[in-house]
This record gives sequence, C-alpha cells and structure tokens, in this order.
Amino acid sequence: MKITRRNFLQMLGITGVAAGGISQVWAIPDQWVEKLQYGPRIETWKVSTCGQCPAGCGIRVRLIDEIPVRIFGNPIAPVNSGFTCPMGEAGLELLYHPDRIRQPMRRKGKKGESSWEPISWKEAFGQMSQGLQGLVKKKQADRFGFFFGDRNTLLTHFAGDFVTRMGSTNFFPWRAPGINELGFWQAFGEYPPLAFDLEKTDYLLTFGTNLLEGPPSPVYFNRLYGKLKESRPRTGLKVVHVDARMSQAGKNATEWIQVRPGSLGALALGMAYVILRDKNFDDDFITRYSQDFRGGKEDFPNLVSRYYPPDKVSAITGVPPETVLRLAREFSAAKAPLALSGGVSDRSETALFTQWAVASLNALSGSFSAKGLWREPVPLPWGPTPVPSVNARTGAFSLKPQLAPESDLPAHWTSEELPHLRSAGKLPDLSMLMIAQVDPLYLTTDRKPWQEWLSRIPQVVQFATLIDDTSPYADLVLPTTTYLEQWDMALPVPNLPFSQLGLQQPIVPPLNGIRPIGDVLLQLATETGVTLLPEKPKSYSGYIETRMKPIFASGKGTPYFEAVSLQFLGEMRKRGWQVYSYPAFADFWRLLQEKGGWWDPGEYPEAEWKKRKKFAFPTVARFEALLKERALLSHGRETQKGDTPLHALLEAPIRKTEIADSFLLSPFTTLMNMTGEGASQPLLQEISGLIPRVYWGPWAEMHPERAKRLSLKDGDLIRVVSRRGSVTLPVKVVPTVSSEILGVPFGYGHKESGRYAKNIGTNPVALIDPLVDPLSGRASWQSTQVRVEKVTK
Ligand code: SF4
Repeated sequence: MKITRRNFLQMLGITGVAAGGISQVWAIPDQWVEKLQYGPRIETWKVSTCGQCPAGCGIRVRLIDEIPVRIFGNPIAPVNSGFTCPMGEAGLELLYHPDRIRQPMRRKGKKGESSWEPISWKEAFGQMSQGLQGLVKKKQADRFGFFFGDRNTLLTHFAGDFVTRMGSTNFFPWRAPGINELGFWQAFGEYPPLAFDLEKTDYLLTFGTNLLEGPPSPVYFNRLYGKLKESRPRTGLKVVHVDARMSQAGKNATEWIQVRPGSLGALALGMAYVILRDKNFDDDFITRYSQDFRGGKEDFPNLVSRYYPPDKVSAITGVPPETVLRLAREFSAAKAPLALSGGVSDRSETALFTQWAVASLNALSGSFSAKGLWREPVPLPWGPTPVPSVNARTGAFSLKPQLAPESDLPAHWTSEELPHLRSAGKLPDLSMLMIAQVDPLYLTTDRKPWQEWLSRIPQVVQFATLIDDTSPYADLVLPTTTYLEQWDMALPVPNLPFSQLGLQQPIVPPLNGIRPIGDVLLQLATETGVTLLPEKPKSYSGYIETRMKPIFASGKGTPYFEAVSLQFLGEMRKRGWQVYSYPAFADFWRLLQEKGGWWDPGEYPEAEWKKRKKFAFPTVARFEALLKERALLSHGRETQKGDTPLHALLEAPIRKTEIADSFLLSPFTTLMNMTGEGASQPLLQEISGLIPRVYWGPWAEMHPERAKRLSLKDGDLIRVVSRRGSVTLPVKVVPTVSSEILGVPFGYGHKESGRYAKNIGTNPVALIDPLVDPLSGRASWQSTQVRVEKVTK
C-alpha cells in the first residue's frame, strides 16, 4: 500500500486530531513518512515533562519507528500521576505545526510589517555577536536586555545568568512575581510564599481562585478536588467559591457565592469584621506572630470597623449581609479553615488588596495554626550558583523592602510596564533586546507603547516557533525548539506541598534548521568571548547535568518511582533507605532520564511561625506607603487617586452597571487555552468551546435576566463596544455569570501565530482600558465597561 500522510497518521492510531484536516494539521517531515513505509513499526516510549504551561506534568510519549504519535501522562510523575490536561495532550500539534519557522529570518520591511528574508545561522550569529561584542567593548552592556516568558524552568535562570555575565542587569521576566507572591511579601515580608495542603482543610474558601483551570497546576488540583469530593461525607469538607463567574471552581464547590467584580477583598474584610465582633479570632497567633493588630487608631480592627460593617460590604459586593455573617461564622468555626485568593481577582484593580485581605482572614481565624495546613517550601539543594540567578532588575524581591538594590525602581514592577519605565527614564535606551517564550504584543492591554518602544530598539531578536504578534517588531527571528525537542528542567510548582524537578529531554531531535535557546546562548557567549559558567558546559544539557550534581550530592529526594505508600517510604527514609541505588552521579543521571524527573516524597515541614517574620495586617498607613511607592511607576497611566485611598481602592474600581445595555467585560481563561498559545493548536480550537458549543471562536456569556431585557437568545450575535473598539460575538445565555458581567474567553484573536490562530476570533484584552491595580501595578482585566447591541442580519 502506498502510504500517504493521511493514512500514515490513521495507521498510527492517532486520535483526537480535527476531523477532515489531518494532512494539513500535522507537517510530518517527508523522511519520516518514508521511514514508516519501510520501517518495522516498532513501538517505543519516552518520558519527559510537558512544557505547555508551567505546571511541570510528567509525560510519556508513544513513538512508532521513533516518530512521536501520542502524548500520555507519566504515571509515576507525582504532580500529575499519569493524567494530562487537553493542552498537555495536544502538544504534538506544536511539534508538527505546518507553519513552524525552520530558518533564521531577517526583517525586510519597516518595523510592524511581517515581511522576512531567510538567512543562515552563521549570518544570524554574526549579526548578534557583533552587536553584543560592540556593547561589551564600549562598556555599554547595560544597553542589552532580555525579555523572557516564565515557563518555570531552569532556562529562565540560565538566560538570567547569560544577561548578568554579559555585564547587564536588564533581565526582564514576564509576570514575575505574581500577585500571590506580592501579597505574601506584603503580609510576611518574605519570599517565597508558603505552600498549603488542601487535604488538611475542612473549609476551603476560594476568592476567585480557580485551581482547576489554570496555574499553578490544574491537573494536580483536579485530581485532588476529585479525591476531596469523594471523601466529603467522611470529612465534612465544605468548599465555597466566591466570584462573579462560576467557572469550574464554582461547579466543583459546595456553594458558589456571586459577588461584584473587584469586590472580593471587601468581602474578606466584611467577614473579618464579623469575626472580630464575635471575638472568634485566634488570639494566640495574633498576639505572638502578628503586628498592627493592636496599634491604636490606625490598626487593623480600626480599619475593618470603620469601613467594612456587613451592610456596607453588602452594598459594595452585592452579597446579602446575612451571607457575609454566615460565611464569617462558618469560616471561624472550622478547625482548619483555608482562604485562598487568585485567578480573576489577580487581574483586577483590587488585586493586591484582595490578596492581603484574604491573608488576614487566615491570620484571624486560626488557619495559620491548623496542623499541617501551611508548609514551608524547602529550597532545593542546588549548591552555590556561579552567578546570582535573579538580578536587581528582574522585578524579583530584593532584600530592601521598598527599592531594588542599585536601582530607583520599586522591587516589584512588572514587565508589562517596560515601555513606560523607558519613557520615564528608569531604563537605559537599549541597543539590543532579546525576546523569548512570550508574545507581549498579544498579551498587553496597551499595545501602542510596546509598538513604539520596540520600534526604537535597533536590534530586537526574537526566539520563536511560529511568527507571532510580536514578530513584526523584531529585526531577527530565530527558530527555536518546542519542549519535545529540547533539554530543560521544570522547577517545583509554587504552593504544592512537595518539591519536584521534571526533566525535559528531546523526544525527537530538533527539526532541521531549528536550535534550542540554551545552546544558542552558549554559542553566543563563546563568540562574544564571555565565559558563562566555570564548568564551561558544551551544551545546555551539560548545564542541566551540572546543576543536578549538588542535588545528587545532597542525598535528598529520589528519581520518580512507582507508587508505594508514602507513609511506608517515610519510615524507610528515616532509616536511611533510598528508593533506588545510585552510587555514582552517572547512575543518578541515567535514572532521571529513565524515570522523567526527581522529587522529594517528604512533604515540606510545617510552617514555623517562631522563625518567620510577624504577619503584618493591612492598615491605612500600609496602603498609603504602598501607593507612594507605586506612584513612582504610574507615569501617567490611569490609577486611582484621591485623599481617601481606601475608597479609591475599594469602591471606585467597583463599577456598577446600571444602564440596561452596559456590562463589565470579564475575560477568563480556560483549561484549553491558559496562555493564549493554545489557539495555534487545532485540537484545542476544536474542543475549547465544547460546553457552550461554540467552535473555533469565542463567545459572550450573559445572565438570562439581562438577555431577556435585551431580547437576546442563545446564539444571537451581539456587538460588544468599548472605548477601544468593538467585536461581534455569539451570545451564550447562562445562569453561571453574575448579571453585571459579560464573560468572554481569552486566547483568540491573534494577528499571527500560524494558520489555526491567525485572525480567528477576537482578543478581549484588546478591548480593555489600560487600567492598573494601583497597589501592584498589574494590569486589570476586570475594569472595562462595554455596551452591547444586537446585530441584526
Ligand atoms: S497542566 Fe500544564 S504541564 Fe500539565 S499537562 Fe496541562 S499543559 Fe501540560
């Protein structure tokens, strides 16, 4: 039989690929098709770690004659225990994408035009090393910067080290640190945040947190939620989800409380009011381990009693006063209550305020004293690093609470602010900027400043698998590997109660002409005459191997192993027993590759409050200090101002929608497309709208009452109009959104990103007013008022 691409794939038993389009969906290299025609059809399996999101799930890939045909979960990877999410399963579509860039490309036209000419790697290296050498020679290394998306892998550290070794401090990771970290930093003055163990709580209250459809680890938390649900009759666990949209977190909760967008922090403080009034708080924890609880006029109880009595909170949040009362009493009566905030609340104008308010609920109620609930992440035994992995301008936490060392920037600015920082003279004019693993022009709520900033930089070098929305502003686009063709190491997932390192290793060699970022940086360092590491690894895989040596030497943890009782293992480990025997590093390294990663089965130890800094309750004075710090960065961006910061923070952003056709736009992420990159994978396009039954495009979720008032029914087309533009969407009438919001999925509307994503649907973020949370500087997705009109055909 003559084998065509189509029957080749069918023969391999590949499922889940969009019907009717297999041969166009996967660009299988010709030599592979030929190989199969004559090959013995031998099945093999390889293990690695998923790279579609930062959760680090272990994967097993099925290969026929060394050609990958399907991705499964690695059953011995502790984060996912054999499961994957739809994005994890769709990973081969990234590998076989027909529009992958196969050769370095140089811009032909003006910035902003997607017009390219292919060049050789030699020319590309020549151009880059000449630029870098010139800067190093002229002692202008600070004119070099690297803008890096955070996949939570060692590559981020490596790229940071690369920048530092070049003599620059301009390493800019996208989105680091998150609101969760910032909230923790404000409350505890320390970093990283504590981990929590959901199995130890008997009352889980999630303020917008949707652990089931996004980071830190949706597969882990979906499994855990399933387990907790099953054991509810025995444990009595109650799960309450508070949000304007139900989401999967609400569907899997015991109760969903509808609340006005942006008002979650006010609800938390309304509960605090009741707990304080009822004198139901954990006096022992508060007295010993907190500050600003009993400080007189400006302390926390004063803040709460002045601004957050239940009737006022009810007016702000839309939650009835008796519900505020009930939630507070249930929460404080629980033995191990746990309140979490995140998800959409992290993308509002009250993001940091909400994190802090929710943390104070935990401090008040005794959550922090509950046995085993809060865990202290143990740093990995990496050993001394050759250069600081995270430097002053990374936006990471510095030792000084206010300003990053040797910089007049607050310690927690965000990469999204870069063009504004440049305009304000807080960053030097860059001569060369590298960009990898992030598409800022797609993600930003304010494109124009980015377009202008990138247009002014003479050499913008982008590492990419597909031409994306940022590429037209690059001068050089370098084709890079997918996670299935490269080495890397996924780092421990924040908030999980144990450590794991997921090894990424090539399932297949990189397609011709494509190179991994790590190896490109190593070669560039050599050509520029800079030594990256004392060990001088020849390849990026050599760097990973070197970084694993201190882990081996520490004797801690083990390569993944087949499931046995953790209790039994714990006992054995106390007696010095190891799961595997690996006398030499070479054995350990071989086992890592065979099993797919390393973990420490011992849970993190319980948080030791005696050793930690005292918990700082939010107060008016603290909010004011933070506002002043942030004011350094506002640069004319619209932020809340006024003499009454609390009102500015808490009430002004909560925009009520009383006009009949007016809604608050509420973009949300889905498990099919957490990052926006899923749009380039047809399987995900095909299934992302399975529940609303809208395929290959977004929709607008509207409450039935509002739909009735506007004479709209399911499937009708509406025009959604904001100050920044308008889009047309089909309406889905659902009772799972509050009547004030219009829920629109994020992830569509790319201007580029290959044939399956380009110009498909609309990006709700493009409609958004560029408003920020005044305390954290993070862009708000939940503040834009839109008008809706029916489209009549
Ligand atoms: S949760 Fe993230 S890492 Fe895990 S399978 Fe899904 S996309 Fe991959």
